[in-house]
Amino acid sequence: MPIFEHPDFDHHRQIVFGSDEASGLRAIIAIHDTHRGPALGGLRIYPYASEAEALTDVLRLSRGMTYKSALADLPLGGGKAVIIADPRTDKTPELLRAMGRLVDSLGGAYITAEDSGSSEADMRIIAETTRHVSGLGRDGGESGDPSPFTAWGVFCALKSAVCHGLGRRDLEGLRVAIQGVGHVGALLARHLHAAGARLVFTDVNREASIHLAEELGAETTAPDAIFDAEVDVFAPCALGAALTPEVVERLRAKVVCGAANNQLASPEIAERLMARGILYTPDYVANAGGVIEIAWQRRNDYRREAAMTHIEGIGNTLDEIFARATREQRSPARVADDLARERFGRG
Ligand code: NAD
Repeated sequence: MPIFEHPDFDHHRQIVFGSDEASGLRAIIAIHDTHRGPALGGLRIYPYASEAEALTDVLRLSRGMTYKSALADLPLGGGKAVIIADPRTDKTPELLRAMGRLVDSLGGAYITAEDSGSSEADMRIIAETTRHVSGLGRDGGESGDPSPFTAWGVFCALKSAVCHGLGRRDLEGLRVAIQGVGHVGALLARHLHAAGARLVFTDVNREASIHLAEELGAETTAPDAIFDAEVDVFAPCALGAALTPEVVERLRAKVVCGAANNQLASPEIAERLMARGILYTPDYVANAGGVIEIAWQRRNDYRREAAMTHIEGIGNTLDEIFARATREQRSPARVADDLARERFGRG
């Protein structure tokens, strides 16, 4: 498994493989960049089919965190960690403490947080063996779950995208298709519903989506039919790589804006979307609300209103990206990458 020649290596500053025989830990921590500050990124616990798959995932995700933090104007770099394990059966306190020791060995260059497969409760156990953990909840015992902040950020992003892509400022009657109504997708659906949008959504967990649809008066579709929905906006809020060449051909929406990480199955999908006249909202800009809030939690002057104002700034950042993309006749994805690289010193 080559590392320096890996297609997703992208000059990562440090990649650490860690193991612990007693707990069965097999983990990788990737630190992409620390020019703006310590590398913050979540810990994903997933039963990867191979080490190669785990490595590719952690490299892509940690790089994404560098870009996300730079465009959210945070004093943070980008990193990510993965544990190769099934979170439902293999996650033990010993495993998490061993992970904490691995994080601690990096002396604060990497700060961990919750992600898919890991929870706030897990972060508390990790905090027994390292202080380089975030997302433990705010003062007053409020939950550390970043999803409400991510959903609010995606909502602000969507308003900017609709303004640029469809030339409209209000969401009344706007038709939106949401793929995945989990933590973020369901909250996004509620914000959109409150703003008067008409929703259609899908989830592989049919029960959850049917309950929510009844509550919001929304339609539901089978998972594969969501791409054909007759809508104005498509919001990918499930897993990564939703936008494949085939999906791009099928989409009826003129705007794509959602929470999922790494939405483009490959970089040139950005140009395919552009060729079809579909405005793409760079995922890591739209979904930065959670990390913005975590960054505020790390300060000793945390104020919820200030964090929310910072999150609403996602809309302004996108206004700038969309305007530059129009001027330069390039995809917003490329413009966002350039802007981020300028900000973390690789421009
Ligand atoms: P989640 O697991 O709570 O929700 C994802 C939902 O998608 C689940 O309900 C799942 O059943 C559904 N799903 C999976 N595959 C599907 C498919 N093929 N078709 C339809 N539905 C499908 O996760 P989440 O926390 O809501 O995050 C959603 C996405 O946003 C993820 O890609 C995540 O990486 C990204 N993200 C989340 C946050 C956050 O704060 N939670 C922050 C940044 C990015």
